[in-house]
Amino acid sequence: MSIKKREDDIKMKPFYSVWAPIGIVSFILIIVIAIMLWNTSGLKTVLENHTDSYVKEVSYQLTGEISARLQANKAMLEQLADAMPHLFEDENVEEYLKIKKEETVFDGLIVIDKDKNYISSDAVIPDLKDFPEIAASFEGASELTYVEGQSLLFTTPIYFNDQVEGVLAGIRDKENMQKLIQPHSFSGSGLSCIIDSTGQVVISATDHKPFLQLEDIFKRGDKQETIESIVKMQEDIIHMESGAFHFTASDNSRLIMAYHPLGVQDWVLLTLVPANLISGETDEYVLKMFLIMSGLIAVFFMFLVIILRFYRKNRKWLEKIAFTDPLTGGLNNAAFKVKYQNLVELMKPGSYAVIMLNVKGFKLINENYGTKVGDEVLQYIYQVLSRFTEEDEFVARGEADHFFLCLKENDPTEIQQRLDEMIKTINSFSAIVDIQYHLSFFQGACLITEPGTDITILQDRARIAYQMQGSSTACAFYSSELIQELKKEQQLNELFEQSLANHDFQVYLQPKVRLIDGMVGSAEALVRWIHPKYGVIYPSDFIPLFEKNDNILKLDFYVFEEVCKLIQRWQDEGKTLLPISVNLSRVHFKDLSFLRAFSKLKESYQIPDGMIEFELTESVFFGHKQIDPVINIIRQMHKCGFLCSLDDFGFGFSSLVLLKEFDVDVIKLDRQFFVDISNPKTKNIIAGVVELAKKLGVEIVAEGIETEEQLRFLKSLRCDMVQGYIYSKPLPIAEFEVWWNLFDSAHHNSLRN
Ligand code: C2E
Ligand code: CA
Ligand code: CA
Repeated sequence: MSIKKREDDIKMKPFYSVWAPIGIVSFILIIVIAIMLWNTSGLKTVLENHTDSYVKEVSYQLTGEISARLQANKAMLEQLADAMPHLFEDENVEEYLKIKKEETVFDGLIVIDKDKNYISSDAVIPDLKDFPEIAASFEGASELTYVEGQSLLFTTPIYFNDQVEGVLAGIRDKENMQKLIQPHSFSGSGLSCIIDSTGQVVISATDHKPFLQLEDIFKRGDKQETIESIVKMQEDIIHMESGAFHFTASDNSRLIMAYHPLGVQDWVLLTLVPANLISGETDEYVLKMFLIMSGLIAVFFMFLVIILRFYRKNRKWLEKIAFTDPLTGGLNNAAFKVKYQNLVELMKPGSYAVIMLNVKGFKLINENYGTKVGDEVLQYIYQVLSRFTEEDEFVARGEADHFFLCLKENDPTEIQQRLDEMIKTINSFSAIVDIQYHLSFFQGACLITEPGTDITILQDRARIAYQMQGSSTACAFYSSELIQELKKEQQLNELFEQSLANHDFQVYLQPKVRLIDGMVGSAEALVRWIHPKYGVIYPSDFIPLFEKNDNILKLDFYVFEEVCKLIQRWQDEGKTLLPISVNLSRVHFKDLSFLRAFSKLKESYQIPDGMIEFELTESVFFGHKQIDPVINIIRQMHKCGFLCSLDDFGFGFSSLVLLKEFDVDVIKLDRQFFVDISNPKTKNIIAGVVELAKKLGVEIVAEGIETEEQLRFLKSLRCDMVQGYIYSKPLPIAEFEVWWNLFDSAHHNSLRN
């Protein structure tokens, strides 16, 4: 199996979202564009209003021009008519009309006499019989009308001797009139026409749309606004008033319609101009500006895409650096946290656990084999651990020799099984450096009941669990009780210094009775913490704690000094001296020079040799790899006049073989030995140990003796001394002195009797 490369899918939560600035910039762009559009539309409105008045003005001018022209035409025709009577006499009327047609603007001239005879300048004579204007002119009026949208018809009476003798009609062709009303001012983009008050087109500037559909404009027009405007226009026309309005043509183009009565007949000049007549040119610029803007925006977004891609690529690279442990090539702690965050959404409560493993005594590997080997060991551990992780599980190296596992397990037994398997494989060491070293681990776990809990907190809990574990080798599981304990410990630690200064720690003495003569042969000093607020606190509640933070060094020294003071007092009082044993924590052995301070104190209190015994627990002897320093320190203790005992023998690592290596004076058999005293096997073991100790010349003390049965058995083995409740509990010094007096004198008496 190879190491699973799981780090590939780690995604860093960006420190900030790139989308935020993009969003802001896009928003600003949209706002800018909106403002520009709004501005442009404002500009358009202004320009359209300009166009409006411009068109009105121009069409007003045009109206003037046209009506002036028509008036002029009319006047010209009247002039011609005035000259007519002389002509009537000769027969040259037709010739005259022909000449005048060439000389004037008329495209045809016709004379109609009373008898309705037609004389025309042209061969083709339109049928004018039924025109009311002709009749009106016979009545003396000059008239103007149009002929089916084709041409204008001017009529005027011809007087002879103040009698209307005929009517002169002048025709102007449509083309001529169209030229006239073509509004040059709108550079060809506008259209004009003349209509009558019924909306009939008299003359249109062009034959093309939209004027041909003008009638439609009057009739329908789907927009309310347009309908209203047209109604108003119709009213205005009837009242010979001028005006203008905007409307949207059927092809959706915006147009301006201006209307001006011509003052001739009921005719009105309509002028139709695109609303963007003036803004049209600006439209082009606006369009250009929009194109440039769009181009800029496109470039901006392209730039953005490039930056984003660069950012992504860079981030991947950063992630690789940020999440890889350079030593193992696997995940580091940052990666562990991120992976946990990624997993947490899918995580059901009570399905996962975070575990911390810390190699015990890793410093020794570095010291004994070099850091290169140390590194290889860590790499190897990582490999094994990651090999044992399943889908959706992961492992990372924290700092130094700390490893974190996130396992899909929630049952402590199963977690322990999996950890045992991993540790067993780690210790097979086949693939790695040939070092003879058994790797054991501090193991702490935190079962995840609330996946949302911060991963750092979960890791801390796993760490707290193993730190609170004490000497146990199993995995410790975090619990709220553990925290209570931790709090209590913290409290006790805080109280320690003050209590030491206040002498709240008191030495109790428990006698050891010699079986050979039944006298008190020695006593063990056992500390009690008598706190003014919390009462009596027993060593089991604070010794393990003070061993963790080295307060025990001060405490043992304090007890030692109290014992020195006691012996000195006994000496001063001329009393019989009793050897006292004091317990020495294994923590002292971290720095082997500790003995000097004890020895100095012993001298300053002038304690005779052999009066103080150090009780050392087995862990002092067997917890260290090298036995020489311990052998050496025992030798020094003897030199300084101390005795030395092996405490709690048989409880922990006991090895009878190693026993002979250490030159101890006393072995204290652990009280565990005597719990099951009725068992013959236990009896045999005890007998064997006692026999061996006798052979080695070591004194034997049996601890924790409570029953007569235990005592009888020990007597039968000729055990040297017995310590236990059967004689006395540990007592405050004063009480002990009383008890001792009573005990020894009672014993004397019993001997005497
Ligand atoms: P230890 O050195 O093995 O001390 C003997 C313990 O057994 C004492 O508990 C004592 O009260 C208890 N004991 C004595 N006779 C009997 C008996 O017949 N039955 C039962 N059930 N228990 C008996 P204590 O005083 O609570 O001390 C506990 C441990 O704390 C000691 O075990 C020793 O390891 C440690 N300790 C106590 N005082 C000191 C000290 O000043 N310094 C250090 N380093 N450790 C100390
Ligand atoms: Ca002891
Ligand atoms: Ca003991």
